[in-house]
Amino acid sequence: MKAKLKKDDTVLVVAGRERGKSGKVVRVLRERGLVLVERINMIKRHQKPAGPQSPGGIIEKEAALNLSNVMLLCASCDKPTRVGRKVLDSGSHVRVCRNCGEVVDKS
Ligand SMILES: [Zn+2]
Repeated sequence: MKAKLKKDDTVLVVAGRERGKSGKVVRVLRERGLVLVERINMIKRHQKPAGPQSPGGIIEKEAALNLSNVMLLCASCDKPTRVGRKVLDSGSHVRVCRNCGEVVDKS
């Protein structure tokens, strides 16, 4: 499956513990089918002190979500949507919202 999400997309979590929350994509791990979303699915890691620059303690970080558990939130119709593709007159490919047909790529 080809990942259709990109960094800075706004997505809605549709399955799992964080269902119903939305956030901005921080990173897409395409080959593993995972996505990191800002402030979603936070996990606590206990870190050992490793010198004066890193005193250790508990750090919070995003855990990856499965790509199939998130959907793109369209900025035009404000709904979670599947992503379609369209070729513009200029020949460039853009992603479009399957709900409203609006282009979701910010140029
Ligand atoms: Zn839309």
